[in-house]
Amino acid sequence: MKKIFLLLFILVIVLVGVLLFNTLQFKSKQLDIEGEPSPEISETAVENFQKAIRIKTISFGDSIPLDTAQFYGFHRFLESTYPLVHEKLEREKVKDYSLLYKWHGKNPNANPIVLMAHMDVVPIEPGTESVWSVDPFEGVIENDTIWGRGTADDKMSLIAIMEAIEKLLAENFVPERTIYLSFGHDEEIGGHGAIAIAALLESRNIKADLVLDEGGIITIDKIPGITQPVALVGTSEKGYMSLQLSVELNGGHSSMPAPETAIDILINAIARLRANPFEADFSQSTKDFIQYIGPEQPFLQKMVFANQWLFKNTIVGIYEKSPGGNAMVRTTIAPTVINAGVKDNVIPTLANAVINFRILPGDTQESVKDRVVSVIADPRVKISKLSFGNDPSAVTPVDGFGFKLVETAARKTFDKVIVAPFLMVGATDSRHFGKVSDQIIKFSPMNDPIGFHGIDERISVKGFKDGIGFYQQLIKSIK
Ligand SMILES: [Zn+2]
Repeated sequence: MKKIFLLLFILVIVLVGVLLFNTLQFKSKQLDIEGEPSPEISETAVENFQKAIRIKTISFGDSIPLDTAQFYGFHRFLESTYPLVHEKLEREKVKDYSLLYKWHGKNPNANPIVLMAHMDVVPIEPGTESVWSVDPFEGVIENDTIWGRGTADDKMSLIAIMEAIEKLLAENFVPERTIYLSFGHDEEIGGHGAIAIAALLESRNIKADLVLDEGGIITIDKIPGITQPVALVGTSEKGYMSLQLSVELNGGHSSMPAPETAIDILINAIARLRANPFEADFSQSTKDFIQYIGPEQPFLQKMVFANQWLFKNTIVGIYEKSPGGNAMVRTTIAPTVINAGVKDNVIPTLANAVINFRILPGDTQESVKDRVVSVIADPRVKISKLSFGNDPSAVTPVDGFGFKLVETAARKTFDKVIVAPFLMVGATDSRHFGKVSDQIIKFSPMNDPIGFHGIDERISVKGFKDGIGFYQQLIKSIK
């Protein structure tokens, strides 16, 4: 008896020792860079941003054409507002409305970088106009905040890039490397502009050492145990696929239903899918996130993150609790459309549904579809892919030029910010640039914006100014 207790005691001591050792070895990955004083940003920059919000560059949807006058108006606004950019940089229009600029750097042999943003915005959902506190296209400033559709997504990045470069040009600054600006016009509906720009760069054999597009933001108080602001720097992006499930079965009169109807078969298939979620796992970006965030956390959380060999399931369990966290650790399954039936006393012959999948790096469209077929396991359910889709992006290494440049600029701009790589669950135009660069970063340099695609979209005036500071730092930090 005594021996068993002694053995247990020793085991506990060893376990505690291992846990403590790993925790103490779990060292901060933050660059030793102090924040620098924010550059002076003129009020004109803010006024220019307001003007940009007033131009209704809306992507309505695939079937509704865009309002060409608004997009050409936006081009003219850029030309008249940023004269130095248009004098010193080359500009091409791609697919009529997307813009590609080239700023020649000092070193033509070094690989260039690409800064991206998109000029289109999503529409105001009909019926919600009155819920907005302001006119979404008036560019209102209230409470030191800029309100309106596109403030956060994504005109802030576009205007901040232009402001930063116009200012640097006024100082006769020349970047070390060539910088391309890629401004798509239809990110919200598939990014055909960005696809064409990527193809153009590819055809010119351009390999970029950084492609920086919208993505993660700077967030405060959203990460348990961390009180400093955290810059979420996207290093990969989930894939996208929609599958249509359809069932065709003799219908007939609803007075004599067969044991199973097309609707029954379809909903059972959906229920089986939902009851069998994809397995949870940490993708490389999430592993990197833990490596960067863990050491900054209070002791207990730090110990958990430092000892994944023991606590991985606990961590996954925490992630799974919220829809946002769950999306970070697995391929998600979302039924989004369902159609069947026309009349209350007729059993329909045809029932179909669309299921949207956001694919975790590691899975592919192919592997997801295969699994769906085997989970549904019913040949009466025909499964077909809707045309648009893409595999998850490659993962940008955190020790490469691209990540380090963004990390450096973030640390200099936002004092004491904790930089953390992370997995983007939404889609961006940069997903089309996989052949242009293996260092694609998804990061929007703004503090907790509100209302992406929703009501009362807005960001703080200070946040906008910091964004300009960030792009200036980034361009100046290029080696
Ligand atoms: Zn966007």
